[in-house]
Formats: sequence, structure tokens, C-alpha cells
Amino acid sequence: MSRQGESGAADGVGSRHLRVEALDWDKGGGLLPAIVQDACTHRVLMLGYMDRGALQATLDSGQVHFHSRSRARLWRKGEQSGNTLELATIEPDCDADALLVRVRPRGPTCHLGRTSCFEHAAGGGLAELDRTIGQRWRQRPVGSYTTQLAEAGIARIAQKVGEEAVETAIAAVAADDASVLGEAADLAYHLLVLLHARGMDLAALEAVLRERHAGPDRASSPMPHRIDPPGTGTGK
Ligand SMILES: [Zn+2]
Repeated sequence: MSRQGESGAADGVGSRHLRVEALDWDKGGGLLPAIVQDACTHRVLMLGYMDRGALQATLDSGQVHFHSRSRARLWRKGEQSGNTLELATIEPDCDADALLVRVRPRGPTCHLGRTSCFEHAAGGGLAELDRTIGQRWRQRPVGSYTTQLAEAGIARIAQKVGEEAVETAIAAVAADDASVLGEAADLAYHLLVLLHARGMDLAALEAVLRERHAGPDRASSPMPHRIDPPGTGTGK
């Protein structure tokens, strides 16, 4: 979802600095395990193995290739199914004997038609919701609540965010956990719609959070405002 890297080429920082010969090819008999992760939702999609040829073909083409151990040959993911993996970034692990490959999948990754080969792999969540909101925002399908909000305009969306925030706050002090979670989910949804209404998305929000976390004071909280302990309030 990040706008950098939309070209499909191997343009991530990890890829640019990846030196194929510097990797530890000996430990695995010429193969490195490659964990494949959705660059947008962060969900783990599959595990494959790359030899030097597969890694080089991946870097050269921007399409993820593996070494097929059963067929003992170079294999471009999706060469038959069409469900290819477009490369976002590749990053070696700490001792250079495994790879993390971030991709933008074209269709389901698993041959069983599932998004991930790991059926219950965590991930998605807010990012999946953000992706759906983005699609609805562009396509405006009839009957969709996101379409209704889009047509109502930003003032209405902003009002909904305010209402849901207040309902979440009230639930936090006066209702059970299920109610708090329900209101928080409503708030999260409307907040994402608000970002899309302003031409932004969750990835832009995450970039701000990452920047704060990586700031000069790494020990500080990613949140900008301190929370005063009870009894030391600002008097408001
Ligand atoms: Zn699978």
C-alpha cells in the first residue's frame, strides 16, 4: 500500500543493498528459506526456498522466483496459476541464512485458493479493512455504507468520527468489554474512512507512527502526549 515501491521493481532498501554473494549459502546446501509476507497487510503468505538463481531472477524481474525442491528447477511463482507475487523488498536475517520477502500478491498465494498457505496466520485486520475501504471509496458500489459516507462528504464523516469517539469513551467508563470493543471498532472504521476522504490511508498513518518510534528518543513512547498519573491532572 505504500506509494513507494508501487512499480513492482525490487526497489526496497533491503533489496538495493542485498549482496547475493554475501549471504550464507553453505549452511542450507545452496538454498535459503524465504518467508513471504504481504507488504500491505503484513500477513505471512508462504515459505519457499531460493537458490542463487532464484534470488537473482527475483531481483532482476521484480517477480518472486523460487527453487522448486520437488521439481529441482527454477520456478516463478504463479507461472501456471497466474497468481504471481510482485516483489516489494527483500531483507536477509541477522546471520544472512534466511530471507524475508515482502510482496504484493496478485491473487491468492496458496494453491488451495487461500490468501495464505498458513490458514490461521495473523495479519490483515486493520490493513485488510483499509484495503476494502480504499476499493469501495474508488468504486462506490451501490448499497455499501462506505459509498454512503463518501457521498455524504467529509463534514459528515468527521462528525461520525467524533460521535464514535465519544461513544467509545463513554463505553470505556460505563460499559462491558464487548461494548468497548464494538465502539472502538466503529471508531477505527470511521477513522480509516476519514483518512481516505482526505486522500490518505492506513499506510500513511503507520509511516507517521514508525517515524515517531524511530525518532531521536527511541526510549520514548510512540505517542506524542504524556498521560498524567491520576491526581496530577492539568486542572482542565
Ligand atoms: Zn499453499
